[in-house]
Amino acid sequence: KEEYLRKPEWLKIKLNTNENYKGLKKMMREKKLHTVCEEAKCPNIHECWAVRKTATFMILGDVCTRACRFCAVKTGLPTELDWAEPERVADSVEQMGLKHVVITAVARDDLKDGGAAVFAETVRAIRRKNPFCSIEVLPSDMGGQYEALETLMDAKPDIMNHNIETVERLTPRVRARAKYRRTLEFLQRAKEMNPEIPTKSSIMLGLGETKEEIIQTLDDLRAHDVDIVTLGQYLQPSKKHLKVEKYWTPQEFLELKDIALEKGFKHCESGPMVRSSYHADEQVNAAKKA
Ligand code: SF4
Ligand code: SF4
Repeated sequence: KEEYLRKPEWLKIKLNTNENYKGLKKMMREKKLHTVCEEAKCPNIHECWAVRKTATFMILGDVCTRACRFCAVKTGLPTELDWAEPERVADSVEQMGLKHVVITAVARDDLKDGGAAVFAETVRAIRRKNPFCSIEVLPSDMGGQYEALETLMDAKPDIMNHNIETVERLTPRVRARAKYRRTLEFLQRAKEMNPEIPTKSSIMLGLGETKEEIIQTLDDLRAHDVDIVTLGQYLQPSKKHLKVEKYWTPQEFLELKDIALEKGFKHCESGPMVRSSYHADEQVNAAKKA
């Protein structure tokens, strides 16, 4: 029988779900929209939706052509490409009164442009209806197609986020279809296409990486001009997914934050509950001011 580490106290939180939350959930179903906040059962959902006015939408369907071993999204061959989705997302951003929105998407390796055209249209539709909401995009590597990246950069998001997820040694095990070096190059290209747009990346901790490897990853991100980094604890979505090898302590997360800031990142969020989109509203200004 496999042995699992026990979840430490600092990760045991209760989901706070009030009436407002139920109403928003209903709206998402009516508009056939998906949020990472709900699908990943994110522990920050109350704080983000109700207090900070942030949410993370997942567009281009809810079936992914990849199967990363940490991720709870369904895998398969997607069929839909819904050109009305950008407007529905924009309407929801308005209805929720969001100040910052993160748009991510499943990897659509079945589409020639990886879904970049719909992605870019979503950014534009949100901006038309919500001129004061900052927009962060979190695309897949689009198979390393830089034309697709350009389509997305042309829509001028406020932050370009692309996650490295883990250290180089563990990448083939954790996300077999992605490549560590390709991720770094993707971030560098985005920066070259528009140096005004801050770039960002996230690392999940707890998959068996060492502190030295995390520091190396921070160095690699800085060497590719990445401005913002987030570090959070990996949690196993189900028994079929990769096991948690270590729960990094809140103190260790703080130490890593200091290291990241010393290395020149303009902003770093680091803590057990930090997710890629956590406190993202603060990062836009921090990165622009710096
Ligand atoms: Fe949603 Fe991200 Fe906030 Fe979690 S941290 S609730 S995924 S916006
Ligand atoms: Fe999940 Fe993204 Fe990997 Fe698809 S590409 S399985 S959505 S992490």
